[in-house]
Amino acid sequence: MTKINNLNDIVNNGLCIGCGLCQSITGKDLIEISMSSKGRLEPHELKKIPSETFNKILNVCPGVIVEGLPKEQVDTKAKHDLVWGHYLSLFYAWSTDKKIRFESSTGGLLNGLSLYLLESKKVKFILHTVTHPEKPMRSVSKLSYKKEELLNSNSCSRYGPASPLDKFYEALNLNESFAFVGKPCDISAIRQLSKTDERVNNLCKYLLTLVCGGSTEFTKSQDFIESFKVKEEELSIFRYRGFGNPGKMYIKTKDGREYDREYNSFWGEESTWRVHFRCKICPDAIGESSDIAALDTWRGGSPKGEDEGFNAAIVRTKKGLDLLNDAMKAGYIKKGEELKIEDINDFQPHQVNKKKAVYARHKGMRQKNIPTINTNGLRIKELYDLNSKEFNLKEEEGISSRLKKI
Ligand SMILES: Cc1cc2nc3c(=O)[nH]c(=O)nc-3n(C[C@H](O)[C@H](O)[C@H](O)COP(=O)(O)OP(=O)(O)OC[C@H]3O[C@@H](n4cnc5c(N)ncnc54)[C@H](O)[C@@H]3O)c2cc1C
Ligand code: SF4
Ligand code: SF4
Repeated sequence: MTKINNLNDIVNNGLCIGCGLCQSITGKDLIEISMSSKGRLEPHELKKIPSETFNKILNVCPGVIVEGLPKEQVDTKAKHDLVWGHYLSLFYAWSTDKKIRFESSTGGLLNGLSLYLLESKKVKFILHTVTHPEKPMRSVSKLSYKKEELLNSNSCSRYGPASPLDKFYEALNLNESFAFVGKPCDISAIRQLSKTDERVNNLCKYLLTLVCGGSTEFTKSQDFIESFKVKEEELSIFRYRGFGNPGKMYIKTKDGREYDREYNSFWGEESTWRVHFRCKICPDAIGESSDIAALDTWRGGSPKGEDEGFNAAIVRTKKGLDLLNDAMKAGYIKKGEELKIEDINDFQPHQVNKKKAVYARHKGMRQKNIPTINTNGLRIKELYDLNSKEFNLKEEEGISSRLKKI
């Protein structure tokens, strides 16, 4: 199998998700991140990265290595499922703040917890992803210290490209406690970094995530606005969802024109999502190494209409459970009914299918001499062994045919 010798080997083999951690490690004089013609945020080497620094990147990059929940975080009372990994508790939950619940992606569980963390002074700031203030079709990472900063920047599902970790070293260098909210691949990179940089566990107190169907390429958003003959510079608002659950995909121009599409008509068919290649081979899109993973709860996997917003929480660690209990006691989060793994399977059939398919996809890449992600503690080989031969072969061959499109 081809070895990864430089940054281009990660990017050109479709392993990069654009998280930005490599740039945060080297600084902007060595790595630049820009939007590629395919609509992905990709890092490029501006000056030669010293080999010691590149080794540091190899140890954390979610295109190179992804692992399950660190052993020391697995609580003695935790249950375990072959698809969903370790969990302490599963239940419906949402923000008690009506505005947060309405404007956020699902029920505002992540924004509600972030607000509680700030107002209870458990952390000084939240590192999260928001809408670019001048270019609303794009997303940027942000350090929010106050309620207004946290909530007035459309920090809900930003399905397009984002680099949530490009300010991670900046955050560590502040020497203040914080929480990180991001995608499972971002969380995985932070867990890897925590093995060699003790500041990570000392300062980054909570890792909150969302169950993730994949990050869509920027071209998907471009096609959306172009279908209404709108140019990017004309936009004043660009929302993927929220303002309801799921809420509509919605744009508004600076001169007041408004257009929208129902969630199902835009996201209903998985084959049209146009997700990054890295997402198709994602060994952990379910936030295995987070403290809490939040998800949508539509039976069968897609919404039947609008509702008030009901997240499910997969509570993975004792720290995550304590946080939720404290936030509920303080009145920030409302707990709904307890759930079973069968419910989570029903809410997320595409995740169950991907987890079962991923090892065969990696195998298909290796057979073609393409490097793929090293994994540990994610049970993907065990799941592969339980699949039918036909299923595995289809996935292996399927990925081989997609390799041309990396
Ligand atoms: C790319 C993507 C794919 C998703 N796929 C699924 C799926 O398959 N199944 C499912 O149940 N849910 C999925 N979601 C999550 C879902 O849309 C809700 O975000 C989730 O239920 C949490 O809802 P909430 O109301 O608690 O979130 P909110 O309270 O609205 O908080 C959302 C949080 O997500 C963070 N965030 C948003 N976009 C990004 C990004 N691109 N990178 C890093 N962090 C980001 C924000 O910083 C914010 O803190 C996806 C979200 C994203 C961004
Ligand atoms: S996945 Fe992240 S760390 Fe890896 S190359 Fe891409 S931007 Fe850099
Ligand atoms: S599917 Fe995986 S790689 Fe893609 S954005 Fe989600 S967590 Fe990251």
